This record gives sequence, structure tokens and C-alpha cells, in this order.
Amino acid sequence: MTAKIIDGKTVAARVYTLVRTDIAARASRGLRPPALATVLIGNDPASEIYVRNKRAACQELGIRSLPIELSAATPQAQLLSEIDRLNSDSSVDGILVQLPLPGVLDSAAVIERIRPDKDVDGFHPYNVGRLAQRIPLLRPCTPAGVMVLLESIGEKFHGRQAVIVGASNIVGRPMALELLRAGAVVTITHRFTRDLRADIEKAEILVVAVGKPGLVKGDWIRPGATVIDVGINRMPDGRLVGDVEFEGTKERAAYLTPVPGGVGPMTVAMLMQNTLAAARLHDGPTERS
Ligand code: NAD
Repeated sequence: MTAKIIDGKTVAARVYTLVRTDIAARASRGLRPPALATVLIGNDPASEIYVRNKRAACQELGIRSLPIELSAATPQAQLLSEIDRLNSDSSVDGILVQLPLPGVLDSAAVIERIRPDKDVDGFHPYNVGRLAQRIPLLRPCTPAGVMVLLESIGEKFHGRQAVIVGASNIVGRPMALELLRAGAVVTITHRFTRDLRADIEKAEILVVAVGKPGLVKGDWIRPGATVIDVGINRMPDGRLVGDVEFEGTKERAAYLTPVPGGVGPMTVAMLMQNTLAAARLHDGPTERS
């Protein structure tokens, strides 16, 4: 079997079209464009690229972009008061603070300070809690993007064995909540898992989010599985690779996401969709449709 490659750029482009159409419809009803504040602290090269991509996506979709750049030496109190300012600015719909934060800045406190209705990354405990209770509001972007990719190939979810590798707050855990909500039977594995291969061999849907190149070997894949590789690893020669051995997996899986060009574009697309959703939350009651 040779896996079909799931093209994240094409699926993301469909999300972009929906968001663009909705923003145009809002404009024709006299509603302002959604507005996203992106807060970049310090000079981490990867963070700079991620933020640049998010700002470019705003530009492309007609979302108002408010770029905020702070030095790596910014004290926690100053960062929190910047968030307070954005929280109380009624022209701002979404606040994105690019993670990881440099130095001693406390990301948990920063995430919790963002107003939940402006938390377009979907990381606030309120939004994760709503997802856990099956009443999602703003969903964490990467797992939500994985769900759209899975839906794009007609995945039915009910009763399917889903295995997640990695249990971080931003990917693995909310991914488990998404798949559980969709009706899959979910196993979460992590650094303390005793026999990773044995768990992976059971997976009909496999989502890997660890950050270790080639961690998942091709011959561990259940024949016919759908494999979603969230990992992004920069190799010494500059290439980007995922956490899953691509060639070996391609021979056994039915579907496989590439790195780059798989999950990455979906994360940005879902951020745009969340910004639009946040703007709807902020419309007056008569404008909401
Ligand atoms: P993280 O470091 O916060 O979490 C890694 C997880 O992997 C942990 O739960 C840890 O227990 C688990 N782990 C570590 N070693 C393991 C092993 N040997 N076996 C099983 N589990 C193991 O990372 P993260 O923030 O969740 O990111 C994971 C990867 O996904 C990174 O490569 C990151 O760059 C990438 N990522 C990509 C996107 C995207 O848009 N494509 C978004 C977020 C993260």
C-alpha cells in the first residue's frame, strides 16, 4: 500500500476561503473586520517565523493585524499589563502571545490573563475546560486543524482506535479531547509509556506530537492507518522533518501528512477561524447571525 498524502495547504486554503467569504459578508452588513493582536517577545528565530506567517495570513484575509514586539527582558508585570490593555480594548478580538516565552516569563500565568473570549490560541483553562465538557468555544488551533484534516479524508471516528503520542497542553491533551468528543477510542502515550511500539501498532488513527525526528518507525504502523505527523524538527542541514519516518510509513499507511505542508498550515488557518469566531462573540446581539 502507498499512502495518500494529505495536503494541508489545500485544506487550509478551503478554510481561508470560508473565512474570507464570511469577513466580506460581515463588511456588507456594516461590521468591522476582525482584529488580531500578535505579541512577540524576544528574538527566537522560529517564533519570529511563526508570527510573521500569522501576520501575513491576517493580511491575506482582511483581518486587522496589531503587531506588538517586546524585548526578551520585558518583566512579567509589564507583559501582564500589556495583556490587560488588549483585554479592555474593544477594537481587539483576539490576542495571540507567541510561545515559548523567553527567560523566566511564566507562560501559564500569561495564558490565564488573556480574556477567554479573546483567547484565539484556545489555551486558556476556560477554553480547554469547555472542550473537555463537549461545549467548545475557542478550540486549541493545532488539534482543531488535525480534526479538519481528518474530516477532509472522510474519517468517521466512531469506535476507531486513536493513539496520540505526546501529552502537551497545546497539542496532545486537547487532541485527545477532540478525538474523544468525535467518538474515537483514545489512547494517550508520552515519555513514560513503557512500550510505545505496542500502542502504536494498534492505531487506526495515529497523531504524533513529540519533537523527536524519526521517533515513530515505519514498520510500527498498522497497515491502513491514518498517520498525522505534528512534529516539526529542523535538521542540521536545514531540512524540516516530522516525528514519523516518512518513507517507511508511506508503504503501510492509507493516509499520511507531510512535514512541512501537513499540519502546519492548518494551525494558522484555525487561528484565523478562531479570530473570526471571537469577532462574532464581540458583535452586538442584533448583529449576531
Ligand atoms: P512538548 O515538548 O511540550 O511535548 C512533547 C510530548 O512528547 C510530551 O508530552 C512528552 O511526554 C512526549 N514525549 C517525549 N519523548 C517521548 C517518547 N520517547 N515517547 C513518547 N512520548 C514522548 O511539545 P509540543 O509543544 O507538544 O510539540 C511537539 C512537536 O509538535 C514539536 O516538534 C513542535 O514543534 C510541533 N508542533 C507543531 C505544530 C504545528 O503547527 N505543526 C504546533 C505545535 C507543535
